[in-house]
Amino acid sequence: MFPSRKTSEMRVVVDLNRCQGYAQCCYAAPESFELRGAEILVYDPAPSAEHRGRIERAAQSCPVRAITVQADEPAAGAGR
Ligand code: SF4
Repeated sequence: MFPSRKTSEMRVVVDLNRCQGYAQCCYAAPESFELRGAEILVYDPAPSAEHRGRIERAAQSCPVRAITVQADEPAAGAGR
């Protein structure tokens, strides 16, 4: 469903204790969020940066603010 990507530049975390299954994120970014059944949310935790706009819209549309989006910063000392 969510193919792994080696070039991800984003991290997405959903607080599943907060998520109420409203599915707004699934409408905003269906390539990254999917509801299975009435309440089980599955999502891509490391989506491609090309989806950034839709994922940020998904985070903003979540009624309970369960979605956190972070830039995937390189680790300190990486690239030496
Ligand atoms: S919009 Fe928020 S509450 Fe609704 S399914 Fe997505 S994460 Fe859960």
